[in-house]
Amino acid sequence: MNLDYAPAPESRSVVALRPNYALFVDGEFTPAESGEHLTTLNPADETELARFAVAGPADVDRAVAAARRAHEEVWGPMPGAERGKYLFRIARIIQERSRELAVLESLDNGKPIKETRDVDLPLVAAHFFYHAGWADKLAHAGLGPDPRPLGVAAQVIPWNFPLLMLAWKVAPALATGNTVVLKPAETTPLTALVFAEICQEADLPPGVVNIITGAGETGRALVEHPGTDKVAFTGSTEVGRSIARSVAGTGKRLTLELGGKGANIVYDDAALDQAVEGIVSGIFFNQGHVCCAGSRLLVQESIADELLPRLRDRVSLLRLGDPLDKNTDLGAINSAAQLERIRDLAAVGEREGAERWSAPCDLPASGYWFAPTILTGVSQAHRVAREEIFGPVLSVLTFRTPEEAVAKANNTPYGLSAGVWTEKGSRMMWTAQRLRAGVVWSNTFNRFDPASPFGGYKESGYGREGGRHGLEAYLG
Ligand code: NAP
Ligand code: MG
Repeated sequence: MNLDYAPAPESRSVVALRPNYALFVDGEFTPAESGEHLTTLNPADETELARFAVAGPADVDRAVAAARRAHEEVWGPMPGAERGKYLFRIARIIQERSRELAVLESLDNGKPIKETRDVDLPLVAAHFFYHAGWADKLAHAGLGPDPRPLGVAAQVIPWNFPLLMLAWKVAPALATGNTVVLKPAETTPLTALVFAEICQEADLPPGVVNIITGAGETGRALVEHPGTDKVAFTGSTEVGRSIARSVAGTGKRLTLELGGKGANIVYDDAALDQAVEGIVSGIFFNQGHVCCAGSRLLVQESIADELLPRLRDRVSLLRLGDPLDKNTDLGAINSAAQLERIRDLAAVGEREGAERWSAPCDLPASGYWFAPTILTGVSQAHRVAREEIFGPVLSVLTFRTPEEAVAKANNTPYGLSAGVWTEKGSRMMWTAQRLRAGVVWSNTFNRFDPASPFGGYKESGYGREGGRHGLEAYLG
């Protein structure tokens, strides 16, 4: 039975878009000295949302100097309990403005309102609440009796979870007494700029948080700036590698959260309908723009013929379209460049001999769209089994024994996430202990909690974000 849904669009009226956005430096919105601008689009219809300033080297200098001053004069010396009050205040304002932020995130990124409203925004607030609680308890974090902040943190984030990645970076840095200069991605700067307004609303002392917008060059100027003590980067492995090179030997601390090619392992005793839901959320959540996506399905051979038709039936029911419609499951691809990359890699998969199936859905005439796609008959040597596609494309491989499942799951340069589906606890533990991945989900996928550390092995990066472990990255 196929149910039709009447359109249920969320109103855009809660968002007051400005035509131009300036940089947020030392507590004020100020124009960039470069005088340059970029434009951010709504990827669902390719309309222009706003122009924003491009920070050049002089602006980066100014932002780093403001962060340094704020750290030395105000934020570093402030008692943790006082810092915590600011973080609690920010968390509450985020909750109060969450509808506005959810709509704005959907507009700028293309992700469905169902996800921004029910996943991104609650997690953003949770990260600030969680870290607010730590601010006056750092002596009890197991990191020594009096752990000290590092100083100024340079933070660069990608476009897939714009405000959530900001929260992962800013909340632990502030809780531990550091000040920050953060650069959002060029296709999704808007929620970070509203966050700057929230810092003003919370009366956060000037310079504690600085938001500088721009493209890759701005990011490079920030991470290479000699005036910072710590670099935190989330993005591609390629850029992460170049940052690791430029930071080497400077004495700065570095954490890298990079790409992934997560294995989702389904054993023959798994609850199949539950596993199908987990496979779908593992790869189609956020259009597959998820570093820890379960983009490689490893299914035990004996159940593949039963599981795969059920999976296709389920994926056929996903609703793709207007990100602001509350019924939408799959929104737009974030940019033309990302869409091209997904198309290219899916075509490579076919050329290499995989069988391609795409859900039969109508793609809107304008905007960037890609139908949810499943590639079967994938072998380990295929590029689609090794490279991150970062889109709604699932590669399916099979295995016969638990040993083979583990060997295939670990046969990747990455090591960010994995999922295991089995009803048997001992098999779950046996598998989880052997997987070289920072997060292993048991009979679920893509679950996040601020108390739970997140991070990678191998080319997925190093350092952890979240939980007690995440604090360590900001304390000396
Ligand atoms: P990206 O090109 O590495 O961009 C990430 C950020 O770095 C953006 O703000 C980008 O600016 C900036 N940047 C680009 N070149 C830079 C340079 N030379 N120096 C400093 N900063 C630079 O990655 P992306 O394509 O936007 O994001 C997708 C990737 O991020 C995927 O590989 C995904 O797996 C990874 N990711 C990882 C995690 C994780 O937690 N491990 C989370 C999310 C995403 P512009 O965008 O303005 O160019
Ligand atoms: Mg945009």
